[in-house]
Amino acid sequence: MSDEVLSKLLKGEIRLHELDKLLCDSNKATDYRRRFLEKKISVQLENIGKYSVDFNEVVGRNCENTIGVAQIPIGIAGPLMVEGEYAKGEYFIPLATTEGALVASVNRGCKAITLSGGAKVRVIEDKMTRAPLFVLPSIADAVDFVKWVKEHLSDIKAEAEKTTRHGKLVDIEPFIAGNNVWLRFKFTTGDAMGMNMVTIATTRAAEFIEENYPQAKCIAISGNMCVDKKPCAVNFLLGRGKTVVAEAEIRKEIVEKTLRTTAEEIHEVNVRKNLLGSARAFSLGFNAHFANIIAAIFIATGQDCAQIVESSMGITWTEVRDGNLYISVTLPSLEVGTVGGGTRLPTQREALRILGCEGSGDPPGSNALKLAEIIAAAVLAGELNLLAVLASRTLAKAHIKLGRKGKNS
Ligand code: NAP
Repeated sequence: MSDEVLSKLLKGEIRLHELDKLLCDSNKATDYRRRFLEKKISVQLENIGKYSVDFNEVVGRNCENTIGVAQIPIGIAGPLMVEGEYAKGEYFIPLATTEGALVASVNRGCKAITLSGGAKVRVIEDKMTRAPLFVLPSIADAVDFVKWVKEHLSDIKAEAEKTTRHGKLVDIEPFIAGNNVWLRFKFTTGDAMGMNMVTIATTRAAEFIEENYPQAKCIAISGNMCVDKKPCAVNFLLGRGKTVVAEAEIRKEIVEKTLRTTAEEIHEVNVRKNLLGSARAFSLGFNAHFANIIAAIFIATGQDCAQIVESSMGITWTEVRDGNLYISVTLPSLEVGTVGGGTRLPTQREALRILGCEGSGDPPGSNALKLAEIIAAAVLAGELNLLAVLASRTLAKAHIKLGRKGKNS
């Protein structure tokens, strides 16, 4: 490593982001930036600097101005029996987390579900959305514009799909406020989560619209009705990404022996906490902790972590059936993929390999649907166990044992 480069960095003669091009090697650039930082602010970054990632594969795709990696422990839960349309069989679930007790919790939920015959899962809708915002001179013009868009849907679709092999425009849903029109474009995106794909395709479509309907001016390609990375009612109601439902019936003896409570007690906690408590709080999540499982799987498998926001919205529903517990989870807006974004990084690919859904599916799209089904089943396992822990009043005990190494201080 040349001290000359480092000294030029410290003097401000070379800028940090110029290193990749200057050295023609992003691994070297990463080391220089880390060494610069160590000197500049007098810190030791020996752990951030330990990794197996090739930064020549990362820069230009996943991250800029790289200095190293963040390491997060991965635990495994399962096996979890899943009976979906795409995921069929037993799966081990990789969970990247720093919350002690989470993996153990999901693991016990997996056991109870698997002993009871598994989780049944269905993806009931599949679409990624982008909603550009157009401004028209008046309300009457806005209404005419929406009519024109509907009449020209097939032309707009043909234009958008010129930019992608896997992205298919299925519909455009309009929303009006004053003289503003949001066109919520809905695409299927194969195995990709699809945000780049859909943004590129929608940009082309918006250009086509402006060329052919000059009165409409596109103000922003994302008008916040998409809705990406923000909690909202639109995704809860209309769905975004995969809308997934998972259910299981846990036999009475398994509720009692494995979960150490009863179906009635779990049901009461669900109704009073997840339904009434969430209503009282005006929450967008009628669940106990979808976000815990979603976050851990998203980090492990290279999903876009900011989309945990909308992907972890949803409802947990329970019923008591002859002493058995029926439980289901509904996730309206689960945004996942098995190609593109962070899924191409080496540890993330290995985690997808554990689930049997790495890369493109055959047919395309089937791997992302399989991943969505497995995630919903894992969320079901997490909900089941946390409700049982609350019903048996052992939540604090579990966290003292597994989150504080048994020490309550
Ligand atoms: P991407 O990596 O940008 O695009 C997916 C690529 O994979 C496309 O080039 C697609 O080709 C190709 N592909 C190959 N096999 C495929 C298959 N079986 N199914 C689908 N595509 C296949 O990924 P993306 O999912 O569109 O976008 C994800 C990235 O967007 C993440 O990094 C995320 O952080 C970021 N993001 C972007 C925005 C934004 O506004 N742009 C917003 C949020 C997040 P074809 O297109 O030719 O089919």
